[in-house]
Amino acid sequence: MSTDCIFCKIIGGQIPATKVYENDHVLAFHDIQPQAPVHVLVIPKQHLVSVNDLHAEHSEMLGHLFAAVQQVAQATGIVETGYRTVTNTGKDAGQVVPHLHFHVMGGKSLGHLG
Ligand code: AMP
Ligand code: ZN
Repeated sequence: MSTDCIFCKIIGGQIPATKVYENDHVLAFHDIQPQAPVHVLVIPKQHLVSVNDLHAEHSEMLGHLFAAVQQVAQATGIVETGYRTVTNTGKDAGQVVPHLHFHVMGGKSLGHLG
């Protein structure tokens, strides 16, 4: 928990969000500025800034997080059509919110990456 973190405030209920899925470890909610017909953010309840904060001790949490990504894909109807899961780390990637989050985007053809 970081007191000035917007996503910690969403977890704590001080800032509203449209929740898609929640369990003890993670929370998923609709992005406020969607870049695709489905655009959901999946975040750990533990405050971690980015992938740079992840270590082997977080493996169980990450398993729960990616299970939640699947739940989100099921709940939003994109599990068969496909989706992209993205996390931005730091300035050059354009990370704006310094609480680890995974964008889950789908509902249209997203174009090829790489
Ligand atoms: P990033 O650029 O990877 O840090 O992504 C941050 C994402 O958080 C952006 O897509 C924002 O639209 C989204 N966002 C920021 N504030 C909120 C909020 N209060 N509720 C939902 N999504 C938010
Ligand atoms: Zn936080």
